[in-house]
Amino acid sequence: MEQYDIIIIGTGAGGGTLLHALKDCGKKILVLERGTFLPREKENWDSVAVFQQDRYHTSEVWKTSEEKDFHPQTGYWVGGNTKVYGAALFRLREKNFESVTHFDGVTPEWPLKYADFEPFYTEAEKLYDVHGRMGDDPTEPFRSGEYPYPPLAHEPRIQELHDALQARGLHPFCLPIGVKRNEKDPLNSPCIRCDTCDGFPCLLHAKADADINCVRPSLQQAQVTLMTEMQATRLLTNASGTSIKAVEASRNGEKFVFSADLVVLAAGAVNSAILLLRSATDLHPGGLANGSGLVGRNLMKHHNAAMLAISTKPNPTRFQKTLAVNDFYWGDADFNFPMGHIQLMGKSNKDQISPDAPFFTPGLVLEEMAGHSVDWWFTAEDLPSPENRVTLQGGQIHIQYTESNTRGLERLQDTWSHILRESDDASHFIPHSIYLKKDIPLQGLAHQCGTCRFGTDAASSVLNTDCRTHQLDNLYVVDGSFFPSSGAVNPSLTIMANALRVGKRLVELFK
Ligand SMILES: Cc1cc2nc3c(=O)[nH]c(=O)nc-3n(C[C@H](O)[C@H](O)[C@H](O)COP(=O)(O)OP(=O)(O)OC[C@H]3O[C@@H](n4cnc5c(N)ncnc54)[C@H](O)[C@@H]3O)c2cc1C
Repeated sequence: MEQYDIIIIGTGAGGGTLLHALKDCGKKILVLERGTFLPREKENWDSVAVFQQDRYHTSEVWKTSEEKDFHPQTGYWVGGNTKVYGAALFRLREKNFESVTHFDGVTPEWPLKYADFEPFYTEAEKLYDVHGRMGDDPTEPFRSGEYPYPPLAHEPRIQELHDALQARGLHPFCLPIGVKRNEKDPLNSPCIRCDTCDGFPCLLHAKADADINCVRPSLQQAQVTLMTEMQATRLLTNASGTSIKAVEASRNGEKFVFSADLVVLAAGAVNSAILLLRSATDLHPGGLANGSGLVGRNLMKHHNAAMLAISTKPNPTRFQKTLAVNDFYWGDADFNFPMGHIQLMGKSNKDQISPDAPFFTPGLVLEEMAGHSVDWWFTAEDLPSPENRVTLQGGQIHIQYTESNTRGLERLQDTWSHILRESDDASHFIPHSIYLKKDIPLQGLAHQCGTCRFGTDAASSVLNTDCRTHQLDNLYVVDGSFFPSSGAVNPSLTIMANALRVGKRLVELFK
């Protein structure tokens, strides 16, 4: 058994960022990652390989509560899902940390507030090269300073839309995005503003992800060891069940055991909960850290939807992910409940839209549709429910999820279609794919969170406010599972900021 000071399990937005925060603390750190480094290959930018053949998603099969098999749209790589994310890096709004009344219920108050996170959001934006401009988003929370980099400019078609929306009295703003781009010096910028960013791995390593921005730089430290293709399979406790003494892992069927004084779980909201449940003992029969019975419960993943706004005008935009709208985030004059967030997606092409089009649609028609579409992404909040949960049955991951609170998203889509029809000469709209609707399988788990919520009360939360489990004194969880509610903006920056917060706390404790 090899002995370390700290073991971190997983290298995504949470684990990779925590590694960055701890890399200089002088401790001997072992990082266990079940994936490999994502290969640089032509397929990185091949829409068929990425979207139709699921090249970068796991081949694992999970089950719904109706015992239906599905492949989750999640990837196991150094850098986790940030390898393919769109790098839209948003702060939650101040009010998201409070209890908010929604159409279908009320979200819980967070044990910490926006002010507690603000310095770490600022640090995370620097760490992840975020480009943006303060003051334009009408729901923007307090910021202690400007974004580290200026926003990416809109291309002409998007600028035209921006101006049309602004002329209607709306407040379109520059989407905060983490890429390595200097608009004043494009020739020397790693990012070339291509149309293979959102959902694709970056062949140029120009997207600010947890691998490129955190894990690789941390490996310069002699104290840091990364083991790839090493899947943590079980956490082992001491005899009294109060601490983790070792982590069992497996690589190509071979079993390994590593021990450490402190263990941090950052395997993603589904897999972290599963590892805790899988590690049940006589003293922890319901799974580790599960005194509250909440491990795996309150799974959230947002109500996400995409819409192609197909116009008579061609859309030659390449890098489309530059604009967002939050005018309806908290509702509108006739709907006094949160509706959600709107942003542009990466520019779609025929191969991306063909799986959702009727099978008989000719390729040329698909090409025309994609060539004339502006592609929108909607995010609305799903409510935490103890019945929405991750369980382990017969060694297989089961996801039980019943939708609620979808009215805000529906209204947001209707409102947006109406506005676009009036402000742009878009002749009609085709709903492209609406994830997480009842008739669609649960594979769209990109924004999974909430399965180990943090709080001050051990009876109603899994983690304390340091993200340490209430029951095991050396076990922390720093991925998306700590969220008590999910807000309606992309989750990664909050996961990163929280990892920096926990990292700072741990360094203080070591001192
Ligand atoms: C296509 C796509 C686009 C997205 N776009 C955005 C966006 O624009 N903005 C945004 O904020 N978010 C976006 N997201 C969501 C974002 O990627 C996730 O919210 C974020 O990566 C979650 O961070 P995490 O640390 O919780 O988990 P992950 O990033 O998934 O990291 C978990 C890590 O744990 C590893 N792991 C899992 N199990 C084990 C185990 N047993 N042993 C060892 N290692 C293990 C995994 O391989 C992985 O490295 C997107 C996601 C997808 C899929």
